[in-house]
Amino acid sequence: AIKNLSSLKKLSVLGHGNNGTTVYKVHHKKNQSFYALKVLRFNHNALEISHQAKLEAEILKRVDSPYIVRCHAVFDNTCCDSHEDGGDLRFVMEYMEGGSLHDVLRQHKGGLPEEVISVLAKRVLQGLNYLHGMHIVHRDIKPSNLLVNEKGEVKIADFGVSHVVEGRFDEACDSNVGTCAYMSPERVDPERWDGEYADGFAGDVWSVGMVMLECFLGYFPLMSDEGQKLDWATLMCAICFSEKVEMPEKASLEFKHFVQRCLEKDWRKRATITELLDHPFVNRKWCTSSEGLVNYLLHG
Ligand code: ADP
Ligand code: MG
Repeated sequence: AIKNLSSLKKLSVLGHGNNGTTVYKVHHKKNQSFYALKVLRFNHNALEISHQAKLEAEILKRVDSPYIVRCHAVFDNTCCDSHEDGGDLRFVMEYMEGGSLHDVLRQHKGGLPEEVISVLAKRVLQGLNYLHGMHIVHRDIKPSNLLVNEKGEVKIADFGVSHVVEGRFDEACDSNVGTCAYMSPERVDPERWDGEYADGFAGDVWSVGMVMLECFLGYFPLMSDEGQKLDWATLMCAICFSEKVEMPEKASLEFKHFVQRCLEKDWRKRATITELLDHPFVNRKWCTSSEGLVNYLLHG
């Protein structure tokens, strides 16, 4: 167990987040192992953020699954009495050597082969199945929050905007933090949907569809005709009102069907995690060996 932070030596920065978050690669001498240290800093008036951060800590402490990045220790150094500095929260997490799926996609500009995507998709679905079973909606499934380790395993990370369901849709969707690009129509525009009985779980399914389509294409699926990034308003309109997202011609029928079931605009008709876990796309027998997959994800 890791009892104090002084036993950890900072080696490098692995990532930066929106709200003053930094993730470091650290070394624990006695354990002879590497960890990722996520530090969330607060200033004294960032109450809202610190509430969400405490929830992130609670979720990390509670989850225990091979499909979710493990958290070994949480150090709470927040202080409410100080006027300048609100302190910080620190999470000691398992170090994922391969970086995020965002990094992987940067190395594979032409996209990933379907056999790799199939394995990725299955793991992400298993992770979400676990989380949803614990009434946790992740709400921020996107490439930079899916991490790869040296075994080529993919795990869900970053519970920074997650929510624990109490049963009401608007409570589950009342905050507008996080990236909008992977957000489902009912989260972008809750008014349009009779959200009374929605729990937000279907929003995670939508994001899985977007991410897997991005993996296939090698770029974010909703772009302008000239291949440029859309501005925020156009992007939100595309998510809510446009025709169905176009499927790549050269993809297999199984892949196209899988993605279309995720990107069903009406959340009530969208596939459930259970349906997707039974889908032929994630249950095909691929000839690629698991070493082949690891090589693909880690070494290009
Ligand atoms: P934020 O809430 O700021 O988005 P994340 O938890 O998503 O924070 O971490 C930001 C980035 O840091 C990730 O996209 C990834 O590149 C890197 N990172 C985070 N956790 C780890 C980890 N356990 N191992 C390796 N890299 C990590
Ligand atoms: Mg993140």
